[in-house]
Amino acid sequence: MLIKCICKSCAGHLEFEEENAGQKIKCPHCGFDTTLYLPGAERAEAALATLNRKLRLQKLVLLGLAAVLVLGGLGWCLYHWGMPVIENQFPSVESPLLRVLMLMALCLGLPLLLMWLLLPIFLFLAWRRFLRLMASIEQHLRPNSSADSPETTAEEETPTKA
Ligand SMILES: [Zn+2]
Repeated sequence: MLIKCICKSCAGHLEFEEENAGQKIKCPHCGFDTTLYLPGAERAEAALATLNRKLRLQKLVLLGLAAVLVLGGLGWCLYHWGMPVIENQFPSVESPLLRVLMLMALCLGLPLLLMWLLLPIFLFLAWRRFLRLMASIEQHLRPNSSADSPETTAEEETPTKA
């Protein structure tokens, strides 16, 4: 059964056998490579593509809405519980805008402060792990310490501290 389609380069009419659909041929009109396609199949593909795009857009919109809701809720909670703290701590600040700014600064500052407080603990733990590692290396080296001195291997290992 002969099928008709249009060349995608020159829009010239092409006729081909149904089983040749999907084949790439040189267009007899313009000489460029063109793919033979079933007219219905192309439409279905385009419809599927638009459907996919629509679904993706819908998902994006839903995600955006969820993000706005979560952020809004967080912001509201922060405002609800943080504002009295600001008002109590800094009663001299009258402007509400300044209060909001102070609240935001506080929210940014607290995690930073926490990080600074926790950093020495992390360093201490890392140092202890390093010492333990060194001890285990020394223990493993002890049986064949006659081959190479432990001092040189210890020196080789020190860069891992940095
Ligand atoms: Zn053509």
